[in-house]
Amino acid sequence: MEHTEHLSVEKSIATLQDKLSYNKTYAEKATKAGKYDSIQEGQHPDVTIVSCSDSRVLERSLDDEIGKVFSIKNIGNRVEPNLGSIEYGVGHLHTPILMILGHTGCGAVHASTKDMSGEHYRIIRSLEFIKPTVGEVQKLLIRKGGIASYMAEHPPTVKPISEEAYFETLVTEANVDRQIETALGDDKIRELVFSGKLMIVGAIYDFKDIYSTERGAVFVININGETDVAKLKALKALGGDGRVILNQIKRLLVY
Ligand SMILES: [Zn+2]
Repeated sequence: MEHTEHLSVEKSIATLQDKLSYNKTYAEKATKAGKYDSIQEGQHPDVTIVSCSDSRVLERSLDDEIGKVFSIKNIGNRVEPNLGSIEYGVGHLHTPILMILGHTGCGAVHASTKDMSGEHYRIIRSLEFIKPTVGEVQKLLIRKGGIASYMAEHPPTVKPISEEAYFETLVTEANVDRQIETALGDDKIRELVFSGKLMIVGAIYDFKDIYSTERGAVFVININGETDVAKLKALKALGGDGRVILNQIKRLLVY
């Protein structure tokens, strides 16, 4: 026991050393390049993002400039426990976009589709909110003739995937939709959207080749609660040269 503890402390120290040494180089480079010169006195992000804590989901994939992304992370990209932080981003920093970013291969979604009774109670409490969404998607699939026939009607666009991976992707999309409903349930956020000052964007970060072969690509699945792809593509706000957005609108779950 003592031996194991000793080893784990060594691992922690080595990891800390590694991170601090990386940070030293990082800070040197950031200072030399003047990365903080114009934002030392204040931040001006243009997007507030709620994404999953999963280490593979990078908000930097949308903008790697320091000070542009107001980032909130938790397992399962939940809105409810972070409404205060979201309020700060959209209400005080006035970002015109609030993005709820789910992702393929999400452990929180996977766990929610399984028996969670063996998990720590805090994890159970954090993920309990996805459970009803799992049930909702199951009911929807029953209504549509089962998962096999649904998959045949809405085939994965890149390569064949298992029913389990497909189902979890549907739950991931439904979870993003539910989080947007929660955000729209907040008076202040709803008022910002209603007055056109804020757009809530639901999106999926994909590195499992489910939406495309570009690993780390972000796909829009919901705008201000609208989930109909044809309607999303026809949105007036997407007019003009909106081709980039149009090509990035894609979803598997059709209500
Ligand atoms: Zn996740």
